[in-house]
Amino acid sequence: MSADRLAPTPGFERSGAGRAALEDFAVAATSLGAKPLPDEPLARHTTFRIGGPADLYAAADSTALLEALLELAAGRSVPFTVLGGGSNVLIADAGVRGLVIGNGCREMRLGEPPAGAPGRAQAPQVIADSGAALAGLARWTIRQGLTGLEWAVSVPGTVGGTVIGNAGAHGCDIAANLAWALVAYPGQGQHYRTAAELQYAYRTSLLKRELAAPAGSGPAPVVLRAGFDLEAGDASAIAARAETYLARRRATQPVEPSAGSVFRNPPGDHAGRLVEAAGLKGHQIGGAQISPRHANFIVNTGTACAADVLALINLMRERVYQQFGVELIPEILFLGDWPDHPPYSRLNP
Ligand SMILES: Cc1cc2nc3c(=O)[nH]c(=O)nc-3n(C[C@H](O)[C@H](O)[C@H](O)COP(=O)(O)OP(=O)(O)OC[C@H]3O[C@@H](n4cnc5c(N)ncnc54)[C@H](O)[C@@H]3O)c2cc1C
Repeated sequence: MSADRLAPTPGFERSGAGRAALEDFAVAATSLGAKPLPDEPLARHTTFRIGGPADLYAAADSTALLEALLELAAGRSVPFTVLGGGSNVLIADAGVRGLVIGNGCREMRLGEPPAGAPGRAQAPQVIADSGAALAGLARWTIRQGLTGLEWAVSVPGTVGGTVIGNAGAHGCDIAANLAWALVAYPGQGQHYRTAAELQYAYRTSLLKRELAAPAGSGPAPVVLRAGFDLEAGDASAIAARAETYLARRRATQPVEPSAGSVFRNPPGDHAGRLVEAAGLKGHQIGGAQISPRHANFIVNTGTACAADVLALINLMRERVYQQFGVELIPEILFLGDWPDHPPYSRLNP
């Protein structure tokens, strides 16, 4: 079976040339001020609290460092994965081969779009680094009296992960406000892309499809920064809307570690309703449980591994298909070194 970029394993060994390339990368990254960590457990970097080790993990706290690390990796043929908040991923128990970059680039500002970036004439834009927390950005825009992102006050993750997956809530999504994203293709330059160019649809985008493209089809895209066109509004009304969204979320979603909704909602229905109707709410495999609060969430009760979660996902899909003829499509992305191939990656994008 062919591999894709969500699983940067084949062609890269933990020993031999792959190991040498990583060691060489680590020396060069250290000289740039990064602190690369070998065998870093990725469970520390995901909201599920699940995930085996990265061969090498490096955090980037500025876009300049992120860009430099990406170019170093591309120049040494080291496969890389950029992790944002780790809030939409299930990382294999065997971990991720190659380099994982933790995106901690968090600057945000209100100002003129950079030269070459699209924007409305004479209107300031909200510009955020890709590692900025989406919910933090939303709260910041509310304080500026700007409307458009208040739906995001309760959505975990970073701007970059959101631009990739077109996250959304309460009838809105990122596609509605995004003016542009600055996307790097390490080793091959970077481009401003408008929302139209990113071909957004429900929880997907051109970038998400590019990430899942077969290995060898060119460098994977990395979102570096994004610009948003927002409107001025009544600050107290915007804050009140945001508070309503937060309250709704607190009332309906589990608080245990999870990766949010497991499945996309099928047209005209809700994945959680189908899983519950199939009698699976509360069902547990190992340390992973279908949340008794919301059946489209799997929660980590404390000891879950990725294999437990995958077994539950397979069961949910099987039962819902048998009983209702509906094929549930995972919203969660599977990263890393799965025994055969990242599950469902062909279905997902
Ligand atoms: C409790 C909970 C509630 C949630 N509620 C919602 C909701 O209401 N609506 C919704 O849509 N989602 C929801 N989610 C899912 C999640 O918040 C979103 O999908 C979020 O946008 C993921 O962002 P992230 O930074 O965590 O991405 P990650 O999980 O870190 O990464 C997701 C994918 O994007 C890639 N990636 C991340 N950053 C970059 C980058 N800068 N450049 C290139 N690739 C990148 C990663 O390699 C990975 O393939 C929820 C999750 C949780 C845990």
